[in-house]
Amino acid sequence: MARKRRPRRVTRGLRFRLTASYALFFAILLIGVAALFRARLATVLDDQVHDALDQEWAAVKGYLRIEIYKGTGLEWHWYYDSEDPDESLIVERIRRIYLLTDASGNVLERSNTYKDIGIDKPELIQQRVRLALAPPQPDAAAKTFWTERRDHNGAAYLIRAGIVFDEKHQAPFYLALGVPLANNEIILRQYTWFAVGPVAGALLLGSLLGWFMAGRALTPVLAVAQAAQRISGSNLSLRIPTREANDELDYLVLTFNRMIERLEASFRQMRQFSTDVSHELRTPITAIRGQLEVALFTAKTTEQYRDAMVNALQDIDRLSQIVRALLLLSQAESGQLALQKARVDLSGVVRDVVDQFQIPAGAAGVRLSATTPPSCKAYVDRVQIERMITNLLSNALKFTPERGAVQITLRAEEPFAELVVEDTGRGIPKQHLPHIFDRFYRVPGSGSAPAPDQGLGLGLSFVAWIVKAHDGTITVDSTPGEGTRFRIELPIGDAHPEPQDIVGQPIMNEL
Ligand code: ADP
Repeated sequence: MARKRRPRRVTRGLRFRLTASYALFFAILLIGVAALFRARLATVLDDQVHDALDQEWAAVKGYLRIEIYKGTGLEWHWYYDSEDPDESLIVERIRRIYLLTDASGNVLERSNTYKDIGIDKPELIQQRVRLALAPPQPDAAAKTFWTERRDHNGAAYLIRAGIVFDEKHQAPFYLALGVPLANNEIILRQYTWFAVGPVAGALLLGSLLGWFMAGRALTPVLAVAQAAQRISGSNLSLRIPTREANDELDYLVLTFNRMIERLEASFRQMRQFSTDVSHELRTPITAIRGQLEVALFTAKTTEQYRDAMVNALQDIDRLSQIVRALLLLSQAESGQLALQKARVDLSGVVRDVVDQFQIPAGAAGVRLSATTPPSCKAYVDRVQIERMITNLLSNALKFTPERGAVQITLRAEEPFAELVVEDTGRGIPKQHLPHIFDRFYRVPGSGSAPAPDQGLGLGLSFVAWIVKAHDGTITVDSTPGEGTRFRIELPIGDAHPEPQDIVGQPIMNEL
């Protein structure tokens, strides 16, 4: 039954996310720039009102006279030419938001607007006067107090306060002037509204453009995905066509195709392997069945029963040997068989294995000799290296007739160790050489069926795995009728680690 595909949420899609990130980035950029301009504008406007107040303050000195008389007490006057429209305007402007008190905070004069804003408290005035007069004070009149205040309607004002003196007695008085900030606020608000429109428009346009561009960029990805969907286990020969654009996507397609190629190869290998395994298992099983049938239906004497049972047992042995070997090989190839590397003297290992083979070699009438340097240290898995040499030597002895010779040579050629196993045996015909490392591959002998004593065809696969696991290389030369020569090159590896006992588990002595 075909699985129903749930509709994908738009927000999950790459296109949406790309556009959203782009829009977010764009929004941050635009709003950031607009806010920066606004802040700059606010500073300029602020500077302007400060300057304006500074100028008014300076002008006050020219127009305001405060005098203290012994008899009449205090008097203050605004001296200006009322006929002069400029002067009148200036004084009028100054006096629009203005407060004059004595040093104790008693109000002498104030404008109505100032009353609206709120007359400064006497304590505040006294404190400010004290502050202005407190030493060090090169110029007490230059001390200014800036505040921003609002009237009861919420309109903002900037107030500049400080002290002035009567000329004769140098007695301090408190003076505060203000300017409305409403204009600045209006300008800033207008700027904000002016900026919002274009920013929102640009954002919308940018997002649409982003959506369109992300769509364009992703269309080929979707095409690739659709092509990939058509590929399944049964039609692994399909490939996704590249767009010949030589871009990242083509690279992705090529990589994907290469992966499919590898998958196809391993599928093929797997199929071949299952065929081989079933074939290999069927042969002994059929034989066992045959032996048991003989025992059941035709055997009459105890001797015949025994023979049938012994034969069946031999076949069972072979069966379990195959199963064990397969298990080990599959563990090795799936990476479950971890190497237990340590600093090992390869010369010692070669000599040990050769010693073990001297008796079977003598029995077969084959001369077995080894040439090794006094020592050849390498960072390897001792158990696996022993297994590798054992497999090569047992093959060499198996395929070398009487009076032949098997020679193993070890040479240290930093950073490699070279191991050569050569024999004067029957050799391997050229057409079989590329396959001898394949699982279950056996070079057919004179007859078509493998001889009963023939191996499983797994030994060299395991040798190849061991060499590969040690990052080494293996090559083979052979001349039928003259002999075979296996050459292995192993990196010596890090020769520094201290020698240690290897806790390897000899799973099987020989494959
Ligand atoms: P087997 O267990 O059958 O020896 P291997 O994988 O070790 O399996 O070897 C695969 C085949 O390669 C063998 O069946 C044999 O025909 C051939 N072969 C391996 N080593 C030699 C050798 N030294 N001389 C001749 N043939 C060899």
